[in-house]
Amino acid sequence: MKKLLSFVITLVLFTSSFAQNSVVNEPEFSLTSIEMQRPKLVVGIVVDQMRYDYLTRFYNRYGNDGFKRIIDGGFSCENGHYNYIPTYTAVGHTSIYTGTTPSYHGIIGNNWYDKFTKKSIYCVDDNDYKSVGADDGGRKSPRRMLSTTIGDELKMAQNKRGKVIGLSIKDRSAILPAGHAADGSYWFQGKKEGKFITSSYYMDKLPKWVQEFNKNGNAKKYLNSTWNTLYDINTYTESIADDNKFEGLFKGKKTPTFPYDLKKLKKNNGNYDLLKAVPYGNTIVKDFAEAAIIGENLGQTQNVTDFLAVSFSSTDYVGHKFGVDSKEIEDTYLRLDKELASFFKFLDEKVGKGNYTLFLTADHAAVQVPSYLKTLKIPSGYFDNKDFKKKASAFLLDKYKSDDLIEDISNFQIFLNKSKIKELKLDANEVAQSLADEVINYKGISRAVTARTMQTANFTEGIMHFLQNGYNQKFSGDVLLVPNPATISYSKTGSTHGSGYNYDTHVPIIFYGKGIKKGSSKTLVNITDIAPTMSSLLNITFPNATSGKVVQEVLED
Ligand SMILES: [Zn+2]
Repeated sequence: MKKLLSFVITLVLFTSSFAQNSVVNEPEFSLTSIEMQRPKLVVGIVVDQMRYDYLTRFYNRYGNDGFKRIIDGGFSCENGHYNYIPTYTAVGHTSIYTGTTPSYHGIIGNNWYDKFTKKSIYCVDDNDYKSVGADDGGRKSPRRMLSTTIGDELKMAQNKRGKVIGLSIKDRSAILPAGHAADGSYWFQGKKEGKFITSSYYMDKLPKWVQEFNKNGNAKKYLNSTWNTLYDINTYTESIADDNKFEGLFKGKKTPTFPYDLKKLKKNNGNYDLLKAVPYGNTIVKDFAEAAIIGENLGQTQNVTDFLAVSFSSTDYVGHKFGVDSKEIEDTYLRLDKELASFFKFLDEKVGKGNYTLFLTADHAAVQVPSYLKTLKIPSGYFDNKDFKKKASAFLLDKYKSDDLIEDISNFQIFLNKSKIKELKLDANEVAQSLADEVINYKGISRAVTARTMQTANFTEGIMHFLQNGYNQKFSGDVLLVPNPATISYSKTGSTHGSGYNYDTHVPIIFYGKGIKKGSSKTLVNITDIAPTMSSLLNITFPNATSGKVVQEVLED
């Protein structure tokens, strides 16, 4: 009955649109024809910690149906960059889908020191809600994100027709991309659970298709298997030796080398949490994305556009443990390429070639392991947070006779103790400036500026511009630090990210499918340009705080 009704409505709309076109001076496009041009499904794919050069380094090893299919058949922005500091996961996912930077959207880190409650908070924690699907891990919401996402705008543009779903291994990578008005968002709960869960922010009970997926036994199967290289390890020529001192170890393993017997390792590595850190985490997400499309009937409704945000996180865990030049990374990407090929084929079959539009990007890239860079004589280093705090505190004690002026140092930001400053009748701006002038002398620090500088100057390019885009007057610290290139606050093994340097900012930005031109370009594209570009393709309002621009060259005329 519903189908028949929608057929009749379509017929009526068609007839009226034809009638309009026959009248001189009527607009060429009625709203109906714009709706008709929209894809039935938009898929956003984020690959956590994917550097742009993973496309080129492993290109010869990729098959024709994964990364290569969307590069060759779609539009690749080869000079796509993050345009703010810090380049962390929650911030990246938020900026992709809101089209703006932390100065507007308010997600200034994964965790940050909250000036108001005087404690460190996690971006999506929200105790107003309950965990759904497991006892733990689901008390979350997107409420700290202050602006709308593409999904939110699509929802409003279609008067709530059309579904918006987010999913990932990581909660923050599923919640923030889906937005505030999402129909659902699901993430993987490790430990003893090994299943996808959600928050009562979205619903009180997991949908049947999620419950069924959780019962399919695949997570258990993967956790009892072995991770070995997909091809003969001797053919892995785009990475350094498997056994090297720049890589971290799983607990209970003596060398960072293949094969990884997960059955043996699981007990000491968080049980199901171990799956996140190996390529099977991506496999599970791909399977779950397909289950979501079937379970929610995404892309199946005439004249309605659904939205699915998928984020692959295992790439990030592998990069953090083994570093960007490891055999483990090479294998993880060769496997992800196959997952993508299979996912694209699924989209062709279920939604139909030409009925969907997708984009693929990353939430940040990553640095080469500094201890490895040292062996190449490339300047690099490790920032010692503890020692830094000791020296900064000693300076303040000497100058202002108080050892209580620093409340917190995190994410390369210093938060001053405002009540203590007031009590001592000091000038907060002067304290901040004298501290900035002092700590610039500290080893590995390249810039130290005050919040007041961020509020009063206008930087239009370079690292200071990025710092300003990431600075939020309400939430950020009082002194902001920028370390030297390749200087990180991290362990001596594995890679990390967070800076405004090219190794962290340069990521793939690829568009593919309905409404997208074939081609590539080396013109600079900012990460904040994805949301307005997709909004333009969909003919909907931009997310409300968008600061990016439409990349017109990727869109069909
Ligand atoms: Zn990330």
